[in-house]
Amino acid sequence: TNDQLAHWDRESFFHPSTHLSQFARGEAPQRIITGGEGVFITDRDGNRLLDGFAGLYCVNAGYGRRQITDAIAKQAHELAYYHSYAGHGTEASITLSKMVMDRAPEGMARVYFGLGGSDANETNIKLVWYYNNIRGLPQKKKIISRWRGYHGSGLVSGSLTGLELFHKKFDLPLSQVVHTEAPFYYRRPDPAMTEADFTAWLLAKLEETIAREGADTIAAFIGEPVLGTGGIVPPPVGYWQGVQEILKRHDILLIVDEVITGFGRLGTMFGSQHYGLQPDLITIAKGLTSAYAPLSGSIVGTKMWDVLCQGTDENGVFGHGWTYSAHPIGAAAGVANLKLIDELGLVENAGKVGAYLRRAMTDAVGDHPNVGEIRGEGMLCAVELTSDRATRASFDPMGSVAPKVAGEMLKRGVIARAMPQADMLGFAPPLCLTTDEADQIARVTGEALRATLG
Ligand code: PLP
Repeated sequence: TNDQLAHWDRESFFHPSTHLSQFARGEAPQRIITGGEGVFITDRDGNRLLDGFAGLYCVNAGYGRRQITDAIAKQAHELAYYHSYAGHGTEASITLSKMVMDRAPEGMARVYFGLGGSDANETNIKLVWYYNNIRGLPQKKKIISRWRGYHGSGLVSGSLTGLELFHKKFDLPLSQVVHTEAPFYYRRPDPAMTEADFTAWLLAKLEETIAREGADTIAAFIGEPVLGTGGIVPPPVGYWQGVQEILKRHDILLIVDEVITGFGRLGTMFGSQHYGLQPDLITIAKGLTSAYAPLSGSIVGTKMWDVLCQGTDENGVFGHGWTYSAHPIGAAAGVANLKLIDELGLVENAGKVGAYLRRAMTDAVGDHPNVGEIRGEGMLCAVELTSDRATRASFDPMGSVAPKVAGEMLKRGVIARAMPQADMLGFAPPLCLTTDEADQIARVTGEALRATLG
């Protein structure tokens, strides 16, 4: 019964990303989800909700896809597990590696599979360190990341993350990680700056950081093509071109974290293709399997691969591996998912319907006095809330309003994400969203905003 589940939950379940006082108060679970189809999920109380966030930006193909669940079942019956160490593979893991590399941007050589985005970023940093040790540059180890970046919750990946919540009380970030400014035009230091001025300012800050730390101590720069959890923020004009030019000049590798943007979300297979990026490493997870099973990957560029594999005896084994690396069930889910994304034209749909969603959102709430900005790219949209449009001031306390608006939306059958430590509503629906469903999200956002703020 629901009561029994609520009791067991209260007694046993340490939910992630949940205020600890809720456990202390013995609060019942928020919602028990039982099913899903397309962009909708259902709960045990019989509610049907439009999931405007695709779980956590991950159910790209939509819920209830039989092609994927059948492939998982078939794999589970035939061979639920074998490892991928020492050259072992399965049909599914080998096929998926081929499919990933066929879709990857130019210049990439191999894919190393993991479980989730955080562990893929741990792998990436170890690859970078290993690579520089092989090159005889053991002092070149620091990683530059951005404030507001999100790269995971592990010790290294949580250090790369540029959000205070993920550092506070953990003694993070680790000393090898240095943060630089977030490319967030709405929050530029001087409102008079044009977008081009702001880009120039960001690039100057990056140059300053490199000069201060010393280029010979910096191994890599990591960034999401569009900042995700830090606020769904597309970069200002010329940003990525400028960053890449600086990195090349200083022999600093580029790690592109495509955990959100990989496999279609920006209307291109990878965000790297959208912004003309030439990564040395790419992080993939979420959309790789549309979250039907946990699987991630680190796609290694040719430049690094050639060094890792030269003088093989001397370089030895890359001493890093997960029991579940390339897990057959995850791999089978990935193969079926990538086929489905192609068959349904979801990459193209993400570009088209994503742009439609932002237009519909602008029509619905663009004039509201507490809406500062509506932004996004592909199937990503953020509504930035402010207590004062002219000064762009935050609400007091910051982050107090968006959860209320999201709560009002939930009552009206739409899930939006109140972004952490901000007054922003985030939308990242499944890539199969239709224009009617986009209209529903926009209409409900308007109703909820008026119900909360007038
Ligand atoms: N990188 C990015 C860009 C992410 O958005 C996330 C998760 O949201 C991660 C890494 C971490 O992935 P995971 O939660 O699967 O460990």
